[in-house]
Amino acid sequence: MRVLIVDDSSVMRKIVARGLRQAGFKIDDILEAGDGVEALQMVTAHNFDLILSDWNMPNMDGLTFVKELRKSDDTPVVMVTTEGGEGKVAEAIQNGANGHIKKPFTPEDLKATLGQFFRG
Ligand SMILES: [Mg+2]
Repeated sequence: MRVLIVDDSSVMRKIVARGLRQAGFKIDDILEAGDGVEALQMVTAHNFDLILSDWNMPNMDGLTFVKELRKSDDTPVVMVTTEGGEGKVAEAIQNGANGHIKKPFTPEDLKATLGQFFRG
């Protein structure tokens, strides 16, 4: 199981990674990207089982990242963001996102939303 965490905040990337561990998921590898451009580059170089992406980022935001990714890749993407408005979430889902987690989150939130993406 290999996960990519996309967020322009290195602190938030660490918080998400720690949350995933605390939620008890078996993860072999967690890689990080600082924006959508970097994330797209990493997706061409690695196979990921799950991508967790922030919304607001410089260079390429999370929504644009999902749109670009979906042109050639069906890796599950869950948005991890403060953009919790229903319209925003619907827009992300419409454009290929597979779920949404609102910041701040607990390990239980991660477990509930992400369990379906992890192999038993
Ligand atoms: Mg951000």
